[in-house]
Amino acid sequence: MACDADIMIIGGGLSGTMLAVQLLRQAGRRTILIIEPRAELGRGEAYSAVELGHTLNGNAARMSVDPDNPDDLTQWLTEHIAAGGWPESAEQNVPISELFPPRGLFGVYVQQRLAEARRVGAQQGSTVEHICAEVLDLQTDADAVLLSLSDGQSLRGACAVLATGMFPAARTAQKHSSGLNAAALDPWNVAAMRQLDPQASVLIIGSGLTMVDAVVSLEQAGHRGPIEVFSRHGLLPHARRQPPAWPDFLGDDKSIRTPRQLLRELRRHCRAAIAQGVDWQAPLDTVRVHIARLWSQATDVQRRQFVRHVRPWWESHHHRSPPLSAALVERLHGEGRLRIQAASFKGLEPNSKDGISIRIRRRGESETCVVQGAALINSSGIEYDWRRVARPLPQQLLARGLIQPGPLALGIAAAVDGAVLDADGRASSRVFAMGPPLRGMWWESTAVTDVALQAKALALRLVG
Ligand SMILES: Cc1cc2nc3c(=O)[nH]c(=O)nc-3n(C[C@H](O)[C@H](O)[C@H](O)COP(=O)(O)OP(=O)(O)OC[C@H]3O[C@@H](n4cnc5c(N)ncnc54)[C@H](O)[C@@H]3O)c2cc1C
Repeated sequence: MACDADIMIIGGGLSGTMLAVQLLRQAGRRTILIIEPRAELGRGEAYSAVELGHTLNGNAARMSVDPDNPDDLTQWLTEHIAAGGWPESAEQNVPISELFPPRGLFGVYVQQRLAEARRVGAQQGSTVEHICAEVLDLQTDADAVLLSLSDGQSLRGACAVLATGMFPAARTAQKHSSGLNAAALDPWNVAAMRQLDPQASVLIIGSGLTMVDAVVSLEQAGHRGPIEVFSRHGLLPHARRQPPAWPDFLGDDKSIRTPRQLLRELRRHCRAAIAQGVDWQAPLDTVRVHIARLWSQATDVQRRQFVRHVRPWWESHHHRSPPLSAALVERLHGEGRLRIQAASFKGLEPNSKDGISIRIRRRGESETCVVQGAALINSSGIEYDWRRVARPLPQQLLARGLIQPGPLALGIAAAVDGAVLDADGRASSRVFAMGPPLRGMWWESTAVTDVALQAKALALRLVG
């Protein structure tokens, strides 16, 4: 039976789109299908943002989608701004490479790179078609991969790539989240926040970068009331600065292997930096390129230690906030309007007459208590455990034994080249994965730079 495509990409967010771009740039003719339920490719959740205040958390010089050209985004922005785009960028009064672009604009950049790659690919007969549907099931036979789609279509292709991104925790059947999604406001929906009484008290669960976005949304919506933030450790993301280069101490010293050794060495370098008047963010930023190696060579015990003891610290220090958003959070905190509490969310309280009530347990206390607010925002993150993701495709893949959970049940297991491992640990010759589903393999497998590198490597693997 003939195939509909050489490569079927499941998910057309940043990962799927960048993979298509890289495939189109390779010599040879191929038919690529991207199956994505959203109307536009290249955006996913992150780059569908419409508010200018919802920006990238890194400056343009750090966010190129082209691993061969770190200045790619800066160059695109330079042309875009010169042509009259993003006039508000002038207010930041910094060089273009230091701008923190709105995520919606970043989506336009990705789409433009896809359009250019399509033209290059077309010269050799390569095509990319967007099929607007969800993939519900995937099966393999001796020669092909078969997909069943939500619109009733079936597709047959020589191989398939899972580029399905991240699944928000609140949309899964997690213990404490039942009803939470229905009760909570979308962190990015400014229009919905405009319906709130501006003086209303708002509760936010989670204190990471989604919380920062939610605070930006509230401010944009004219909210001026109190904001109570609850998170297990009560840590806020640090503001991103532009530190100078620092010696790559992990590259020079391969003996550092355990989380404890890493932290000890990192602290030592941070202290040395501060003593020399250098930003502590400088040594921290050298660690990034080594994370995949350190994580993949660690034992499960060491990985668990990292997740339990280092992760909250890593999240708040490494996943830093764009400066304008950080300044807003700091101002509200200083004014006493935003309070952060170390407390875990225990569930929604039923029958709350006015607004919403949640049950929390403050850190160090054994009893739970109830907190009331007029509205609730859930920014508590991502469900990486595919066994708990209530979507048809992850459930079907697991049930068919075509995939297995990754280390610590974070995402799915795969070989170094992205080939997924089945329930018996055999690497598939036809089904691959990239981006957030590989969280358990590499720990950091989500950011723009991770995705850009993986897209190039996987494209070379698939055409090779
Ligand atoms: C709000 C937010 C802000 C972020 N900000 C930054 C940042 O500032 N800097 C940074 O480096 N990184 C950031 N990230 C992380 C990163 O860039 C994104 O997660 C990135 O979008 C990953 O791309 P992706 O395509 O793998 O996933 P996604 O963008 O999530 O796209 C996956 C796509 O797959 C589709 N899909 C899922 N299941 C199926 C199915 N069964 N069939 C068909 N389609 C399916 C979904 O509809 C979705 O569009 C952010 C992430 C989020 C969520």
